[in-house]
Amino acid sequence: MPAKIIDGKAIAARVRAEVAEGVKELAARTGAPPGLAAVRVGEDPASIIYVRNKIKACGEVGIASFEHTLPERTTQEDLLGLVSRLNADARVNGILVQLPLPKHIDPDRVIDLVAPEKDVDGFGPRSVAALAMGRPGLRACTPSGCLRLLDEVETHLSGARALVVGRSLIVGKPMALLLLERNATVTMAHSRTQDLAGEVGRADVLVAAIGKAELIKGSWVKPGATVIDVGMNRLPDGKLKGDVEFGPAAERARAITPVPGGVGPMTIAYLLRNTLIAARARAGLN
Ligand code: NDP
Repeated sequence: MPAKIIDGKAIAARVRAEVAEGVKELAARTGAPPGLAAVRVGEDPASIIYVRNKIKACGEVGIASFEHTLPERTTQEDLLGLVSRLNADARVNGILVQLPLPKHIDPDRVIDLVAPEKDVDGFGPRSVAALAMGRPGLRACTPSGCLRLLDEVETHLSGARALVVGRSLIVGKPMALLLLERNATVTMAHSRTQDLAGEVGRADVLVAAIGKAELIKGSWVKPGATVIDVGMNRLPDGKLKGDVEFGPAAERARAITPVPGGVGPMTIAYLLRNTLIAARARAGLN
């Protein structure tokens, strides 16, 4: 039987509706909506689009947004100064510094300065440590969205063999920790992994976050596995492809995300959700 296609767009719309409801409730209690500050430095075309989409999404759920666009020549000190002011600004519950930053700015210095309670991307050292230690904290958006997709199709995680391909700080590592938290038996694969096909073939749950179009062949997928494809690879003809060979994988999997329309829409939805969580915590409600 062909796989169930996991409709990330529809699920993300539900997450946004839940957030909008929570925003209304919180604003009624506190008199102010949650606020997200988005900081962009320079004119990277992809970053312009990402920030625009995030600001628009905030408006749709009633989150106040504060956009800060700085010129390419901005110094590290000036950027750190802005982050400090946002840390102290009571209207701002979440701070998002769009990456990549220009080469003369050390991203680690900036990420380290974002107050942990406003770290809605979940990239900062305190957020990552909280996840690793199993303590409360803001979790990275993309892997949180992936976990929601797994839950939406009632994926059995406890004791299941989960394989995460990719070990970035943004996706692979936090994904593995979230799966571990849910009692999966987690394996992480990366560019030095020997026999990736064999690892994929043993996985009941597969999360691919590599950035190489169709690197994972459909014939490798274990029959009945649940497949989450984080990859977004733009082909020369303009088409977007995932890291997994979709058609043949869908013949074997139990459920699978398409690209586009799978994981992509979940990332912004979870950024909004994190902003609401941060605002609720600030109001003493979590
Ligand atoms: P990175 O480039 O930071 O990490 C890629 C990972 O893939 C690395 O750990 C690398 O291993 C591993 N890798 C590379 N080649 C192979 C290989 N041949 N076999 C096994 N593993 C390999 O990427 P990101 O995690 O930032 O992103 C991954 C993909 O997800 C991209 O397509 C990106 O566009 C997409 N993405 C999508 C998001 C969404 O919202 N849908 C959000 C974030 C990312 P090593 O560490 O050894 O180099």
